[in-house]
Amino acid sequence: MVKKKVLNNLKLIVFLITFFAFSQHYFNRNLNVIEDFEIIIGEASNIPSSWVGIRDVDKNIPILILAGHADSQGFAGAGTPGEAVDKFGLNPMHPEISDELFWNLKLQESIVKLGKKKGLNIRSYDPGIRNIDDANDPRTNWSVGKRFAKRGGYAIEIHFDAYGKYGVGSGLIPPFSETPNKIDESIARTFGRFPVLFRGGLGAPRRQIRILEIGKLEGLLEKNLRNLKTRQKTIKLLANEIVQAFLNGTT
Ligand SMILES: [Zn+2]
Repeated sequence: MVKKKVLNNLKLIVFLITFFAFSQHYFNRNLNVIEDFEIIIGEASNIPSSWVGIRDVDKNIPILILAGHADSQGFAGAGTPGEAVDKFGLNPMHPEISDELFWNLKLQESIVKLGKKKGLNIRSYDPGIRNIDDANDPRTNWSVGKRFAKRGGYAIEIHFDAYGKYGVGSGLIPPFSETPNKIDESIARTFGRFPVLFRGGLGAPRRQIRILEIGKLEGLLEKNLRNLKTRQKTIKLLANEIVQAFLNGTT
């Protein structure tokens, strides 16, 4: 008799746990899609890359966040217009800059704000002038980032990748001639990784500036950024993952 009671109680407990787990799953899927970072950023780069960042980094390392294409509007390298504008004909977020730069700037601000709050030695640079045609002009992202990296700082330029078949996905491109460090490794574990020689070694990595592709500017990521109800939350979610990767990569 007692045995039967215990068994029934056990059955009830198992049922309740299963029910709870399923209802949570259902609830999360339908109401809190935004919370799921990996679904938001979409696919990561699957280009084979063999680097591993094992060099230790001091927790006080100066960090510089650059917004990709901040100085190259109106040229071929203005950044992706995104799927919403290019494929579906929606209005750009801002008439004078690419949608990618629009989001790069928003995310840059959010990363620095949150990073400072968490105790990182972090800052941003914005050239302000949006069309500097010489990449070696001392005011460009790359010139400022190069000087910053030369002095021992960690310079990283954030990007959103092109949509559909034009883009690759999320991931970190490490610097060209510097050994990847533990911050690189930490970011790559969150976002994925590109080979050092991606597209023959891009302009930024050749200047020891990291490139972080957040994800393709398409689908759920772009919708959540464009929707005023989810915009702040999405930017914060991305910024938080990046800041957390910095914190995890330093000792
Ligand atoms: Zn870009």
